[in-house]
Amino acid sequence: MPPTDRISLAELQQRAVQARTSADLDAGASPTLRELTEALVFAPGDGRIWLNDQRMLLWRASTYGSLRRELVARLGMDGARSLLTRVGYAAGARDAELVRTLWSDSDPANVFDAGPRMHQLEGFVRPQTVAFEFDIGRGDFYAEFLWHDSSEDDEHIAAFGIGTEAACWMQLGYASGYASAFMGKLIVFRELSCRASGAEVCRIVGRPADHWPDPELDLHHFLPDASARQLNPPARAEVAPRIADIGRPLADDDSTAPAGDELPPLIGISSSFSAARHLIERVAPTSATVLFTGPSGAGKELFAQTLHRISPRAPAPFVALNCAAMPDTLIESELFGVERGAFTGATVSRPGRFERASGGTLFLDEIASLSFAAQGKLLRALQERRIERVGGVREIRVDVRVVAATNVDLREEVERGRFREDLYYRLNVFPVQLPPLKERRDDIPQLMEAFLRRYRQLHGRRVPGFTPRAVQALLQYDFPGNIRELQNLVERGVIMAGDDEPIDLHHLFRSGEGAPPQVWSLAHSGRLTEAPQPAPPATEPEGSGPKRPRPPQPKEAQRYRNALVASRYNVAEAARQLGLSRAQLAYRLKRLGIA
Ligand code: ZN
Repeated sequence: MPPTDRISLAELQQRAVQARTSADLDAGASPTLRELTEALVFAPGDGRIWLNDQRMLLWRASTYGSLRRELVARLGMDGARSLLTRVGYAAGARDAELVRTLWSDSDPANVFDAGPRMHQLEGFVRPQTVAFEFDIGRGDFYAEFLWHDSSEDDEHIAAFGIGTEAACWMQLGYASGYASAFMGKLIVFRELSCRASGAEVCRIVGRPADHWPDPELDLHHFLPDASARQLNPPARAEVAPRIADIGRPLADDDSTAPAGDELPPLIGISSSFSAARHLIERVAPTSATVLFTGPSGAGKELFAQTLHRISPRAPAPFVALNCAAMPDTLIESELFGVERGAFTGATVSRPGRFERASGGTLFLDEIASLSFAAQGKLLRALQERRIERVGGVREIRVDVRVVAATNVDLREEVERGRFREDLYYRLNVFPVQLPPLKERRDDIPQLMEAFLRRYRQLHGRRVPGFTPRAVQALLQYDFPGNIRELQNLVERGVIMAGDDEPIDLHHLFRSGEGAPPQVWSLAHSGRLTEAPQPAPPATEPEGSGPKRPRPPQPKEAQRYRNALVASRYNVAEAARQLGLSRAQLAYRLKRLGIA
């Protein structure tokens, strides 16, 4: 049956929901400007400003003005415009994702209109909605806005005076990026009149790219141009698969599964993480010994697995051994194997990890806990590429890349006489340092997202995300247990939160983890104010554990009732205390028969 013949009822309803115009806007509905404002959080002690989970910068419009002027001088008007269009586009697209994630169950008209409000909140411009209509299912889109007091025009006019061309380049990119991410197709905004060319206000109109008469004019600004290519490093020879392509579906982080199974991707964008990733890409094609240093839970084993996976040794086994988990008396036979009759109980000969890793990679975690005797044997194996089984008489040649990891300072261990100096130098050929999570906070949002997806799938939950204050708390937390702790917190959150309920603070911090430090958010007055603390989880079931039933629960209802009473039945206020949007709470109250 041709798909156009019939439309299912569900699809029809879906379409009906997705078709919206500016007439559907409800001034009081989420996300309100106030709610958007509350997503902006200042952590001055930490040197960070957050818009939900995105790090923001507070810089002078005039600083942007001088950057813009320099870009024009370097790239010409057209080149600067293209570059700024794309920068704005990326910002708009990110904001659309943020709004859609946080207010997934709000009316699409209000969610779309949050774009101009975000732009306003971020200080670029004061937009006024003239009209919009869109239908996500059909891909129809039309929108028209007036822009008052464009900051980009201020800077353009200050530098170049009033001219003949529109100048809101980055802002136009933002509007296009926001609408494109929202619609799932390329939407192009054009500035039909602009203050920089003498108009009173700027007027912008957006349509799908192919609905404009001459879309190539705009596409030229959306695609990276020649000037941008000059700034990129030349493409290097691909000796190994790119790390970003590895192991898309998420598997268990702690698995020591041999290569060949899916490996979770390395996740991060911070500079220290990127540097570590770059280092293993460099060293992967060689056979050099690599030493990972960094605190527990910082991801050393995952890095080691990835190093193996992108090396020419990938087809051969990846074998891991945690030296600290093995008693001294067993470590040698575990590493090098044992011959029958070597000691009481050795009734059969068996190979050790070195032999099992033949042709591949042997990962030795917590290397500092090896006994002195085992250190000597390891050194010999590294130097001579030969081993001898315990109780054996013949030498066995081994071709194994050794990757070691430690969370203590090996040099200090050497100075204290606890670690062989010769072995230290043998291992320290190519050190890669993995910083603690608190020193790579920029990676926290991506990690949260990845763990959320993983555990949602693993536990079959429909947890939509995190409440803004849960996000704030995680962004501020020190994570003494590093990535593993974040991972555990998110898993706990996914289990504790009900279906369709975002993970809130009390789902995360339950077993005495340090309270997050003080944070500030922007009050409605425009002044900084201490961010609201979590509502006391008064009726949260204690120790109910993972087996909490899924359907709407009386305890949930009680929590909502308490919040309603505390807020004198102000639903918006109660929603705020619960970390929900007003629409979310209203929907749940209705479902539970409370309102
Ligand atoms: Zn303008």
